[in-house]
Amino acid sequence: MYLYNSATHKKEEFIPRDPQLVKMYTCGPTVYHYAHIGNLRSYIMEDVLEKTIRYLGYPVKRVMNITDVGHLASDADTGEDKMLKGAKREHKTVMEIAKFYTDAFFADCDKLNIKRPDVVEPATNCIGEYIHIIEVLLEKGYAYQAGGNVYFDTSKLDKYYIFNDHDQEDLAVGVREGVEEDENKRNKNDFVLWFTKSKFEDQALKWDSPWGVGYPGWHIECSGISMKHLGEYLDLHCGGIDNAFPHHTNEIAQSEGYLGHKWCSYWFHVHHLNTTSGKMSKSKGEFLTVSLLEQKGYDPLVYRLFCLQSHYRRNLVFSYENLDNAVVTYGKLIAKIAALKPNSGEAVEKEAFDSLQEKFKAALGNDLNTSLAITAVYDVLKAKTNDATKLALLADFDQVLGLDLLSKAERKRKELVAAPKSSAFTILSESGESDPEIEAMIQARQDAKKAKDFAEADRLRDALKAAGVELTDIPGGVRWKRS
Ligand code: AMP
Ligand code: ZN
Repeated sequence: MYLYNSATHKKEEFIPRDPQLVKMYTCGPTVYHYAHIGNLRSYIMEDVLEKTIRYLGYPVKRVMNITDVGHLASDADTGEDKMLKGAKREHKTVMEIAKFYTDAFFADCDKLNIKRPDVVEPATNCIGEYIHIIEVLLEKGYAYQAGGNVYFDTSKLDKYYIFNDHDQEDLAVGVREGVEEDENKRNKNDFVLWFTKSKFEDQALKWDSPWGVGYPGWHIECSGISMKHLGEYLDLHCGGIDNAFPHHTNEIAQSEGYLGHKWCSYWFHVHHLNTTSGKMSKSKGEFLTVSLLEQKGYDPLVYRLFCLQSHYRRNLVFSYENLDNAVVTYGKLIAKIAALKPNSGEAVEKEAFDSLQEKFKAALGNDLNTSLAITAVYDVLKAKTNDATKLALLADFDQVLGLDLLSKAERKRKELVAAPKSSAFTILSESGESDPEIEAMIQARQDAKKAKDFAEADRLRDALKAAGVELTDIPGGVRWKRS
């Protein structure tokens, strides 16, 4: 398998240190609010990565943190702790907020078929680990105390910038527009390992430490949690692209300063989901969550498919129009699979199975090309082989894709069988195509008419018209065509 490694800026063959156990770490959510679908794009693609590695035969141990302390409003260690902000907003304690949004995050993950990592560790569980790392960093001269806080001294490193070769001044955290400089820092990029004194004295969660009562910085959490569960060497570290700097850059600085050797071999960064008006945000515009999509009638797995259709190293633009295209694609895909005969008693044709599976593996093995992997699904449907082979391949691919292809098709099959019994209403398309979404809307219009809700029936006809679908009422049903 080849993966683009952000640390070396090239595609490299993925070779874990121990093929018997791939060690994988993922930056988890900051649980002060719901995850937006941009955050979830990162988690979907990381899920596909983990499942691909397992599919290719490597056992994986994957660890994820839950950030419930220390992530400040600005990544440059200034502003209020995001958790405290969330608690104030909802008049709850920080721990109540953390529990509520951690549960909400995993509920979203379930809906999107994102597997829960093997280890999920809240940052507040590992204070002892961070204190130990900071003590060693102080001993080794990589850290210093100033103004009550403990800082990492970035001038002690031969190379600080790992992920980009840009102008150092542009990247320096302290000089970003709108960010106040911390007078205690010796160098602009130095970052806080342990806070005792800050402008926000009302920090809810504090712990005793050799440097006074305080709390850890955000970056040290991921190093501490990763090393606690995965040891001194990490194969693969994942996160959204905005985490590359300063968060991951600082993780490398402190981990390698502490360990005295290289820490992580491969860095996987998922690029952003943007809206048509720019960066996705929890405060600006419509706050796009999985629940919101559900309220609007979208199946969360349509969003998963939408993400899989594009490469993780490209920015992806979200719009309802783009999502509607994924609705149509998903519906057609399920309808095609529903048309295959299950339990036909035929034997799986090994040669066809192997060659089609090879295409799927090749797509994923080429820097996780998920859109080509979806093309491999269509190749299966078009292939000259029996339905038993096709269904076996689709079940196999879905271990990675996580689109519930077979169970959704089974449901569709049952609906098709049940439909004529419940009503004698026929839906035909002029082109002979079948489209579950359109058919569902036509059926809903029919139901509304039956219930004498003519306003709703007209609304549905208009909605279909706006989507480019024209209806003609025929005896016992409706015929539709695309205009
Ligand atoms: P946070 O909860 O803010 O710590 O972010 C959780 C994850 O979502 C991190 O890996 C971020 O890098 C990632 N992320 C944040 N915004 C986006 C976005 N618009 N698109 C994709 N990933 C994002
Ligand atoms: Zn992290």
